[in-house]
Amino acid sequence: MEINVFKILNKTEVEGPGKRFCIWVQGCLRKCEGCHAKKTWSHKPNKIMTVDEIFELIKKQKDIEGVTFLGGEPFEQADALGLLAQKVQSLGLSVMTFTGALLEDLKYCKDKGFDLLLAHTDLLVDGHFDSNQFDLSRPWVGSKNQRYHFLTDRYSIDDINKYKNKLEIRIDKNGFLFVNGMADFDKIENDLCLQVPEIKV
Ligand code: SF4
Repeated sequence: MEINVFKILNKTEVEGPGKRFCIWVQGCLRKCEGCHAKKTWSHKPNKIMTVDEIFELIKKQKDIEGVTFLGGEPFEQADALGLLAQKVQSLGLSVMTFTGALLEDLKYCKDKGFDLLLAHTDLLVDGHFDSNQFDLSRPWVGSKNQRYHFLTDRYSIDDINKYKNKLEIRIDKNGFLFVNGMADFDKIENDLCLQVPEIKV
C-alpha cells in the first residue's frame, strides 16, 4: 500500500509530544482560508512511498516517542496511514494525527480506513485551521476551534499543557528553508521577507 508524501522529518520536537518522526502527506481538498500548507493541497503524486518503506525508516530512529501524521489531509489516505499507525503502535510508539475533519463526522462515515486510523491514533487533533479564530495559546494548533481528542490513555491534557508552540527552521544544502511547528507565519513572512514553504494544518 502506498502513501503520497509531501515531506518526512526523521525527528522533530515541535509536532506533538516529545521527539517525533513526522509525515506530511500530499493532498488536501479543504482549501482553508489562511492555510500555510498550500503546497500540500495538490493530489499529484509527489513522493510515493510504500507503508513498509516508511515503517523501515521509523524503525531506524533511536530515540523517538512517536510518529505524527499531518498534511495535507491524513484522512484522505486513511487506509495506508491506518496500517502504518498499527505498525507504529506495535513498536510501543505513539501516534498523533491531525485532521481538518471533525471526529464525529469521521466516525459517522463508517469508513474502514477512517476507523482503522482512528483505532491506531493515540492523540487526534481535529478541526480545520480557521484564520478568524487564530490563537496560539495551545501547543501545535493555530485556531481555537481545533480540539485534542485522547483516543487512548497514552496522553492526557496534563501532558499537553507541558508544551508551548515552537518553531524549527532547517536550511537544506540548496539554501531552501523548511519551517515547521506553529507560530504566526504571516508575521514571520512579513518580518523576515521569507517564503515559508509549508506548515501543518
Ligand atoms: S489548513 Fe489543513 S485542512 Fe485546511 S487546507 Fe490547509 S492542509 Fe488542508
